[in-house]
Amino acid sequence: MAKKTKGARKDKPRERRERRFEPRPTTSPLVVYLLGGIGAIAMGAGAWAQFGSMFADSPESAPEPLAFARYVLVAGTLLLGAAIWIGTSGDPALRVGDGGVVLEKGGLRRLPWYAVERIEWREEAIRVIGKDDLGTSVTLVARVATQPQAAAWIVKEARERIPAVVDVPEDVTLPIARNDAGQGLALEPPQVVGKHCAASGKVIAYEPDARICPRCERVYHKAHVPESCPCGASLASLQGAKTA
Ligand SMILES: [Zn+2]
Repeated sequence: MAKKTKGARKDKPRERRERRFEPRPTTSPLVVYLLGGIGAIAMGAGAWAQFGSMFADSPESAPEPLAFARYVLVAGTLLLGAAIWIGTSGDPALRVGDGGVVLEKGGLRRLPWYAVERIEWREEAIRVIGKDDLGTSVTLVARVATQPQAAAWIVKEARERIPAVVDVPEDVTLPIARNDAGQGLALEPPQVVGKHCAASGKVIAYEPDARICPRCERVYHKAHVPESCPCGASLASLQGAKTA
């Protein structure tokens, strides 16, 4: 199937990009190190006192393990556990870009722009409600406290791409979306083969048949591109393009 090489494609696709945002920790790292350090030391001491007697020369004469050692061991384990929990229980990393918004939680859960149903402001956070690639409902939360730039970029991009579903007052305390924020990532072209045309329902069987809305990335069959996309973008430039 991949044998057919027709030479370089003339319409060079625009490069797709997205930004990746790590959450800002809400706890001071020093607290995490201190807790973790004390916990680890206590665990070491407790374990030594508890199990050290097992290595004595004659088991009969070995002293009873100190009951106290158990508590030290348990307390140390709890402290270390707390340090690990505090240090890693931050919000997930988020991505924003041409491919929509992405929640990094047990893999990547991507909400393409066309599948975003609502973007709202609630409890000092931007919430994105929509469906992922598999059609599962997802709510993605970008808190201003931990994900200020992700929140800012979600709103900025959504206002340009899918303004009808953005329900965020103009006067909320969002930072300015900075150009140097986040880590820039290049994206592969969207997967279109097997998708249904958003206008006709026709399955895209052959990649060159697909036309993609530049704003929300809805996929259309080239013979069924409407005047305008439900996101509001004009699709006139994609209509009736004959591939010579
Ligand atoms: Zn669109």
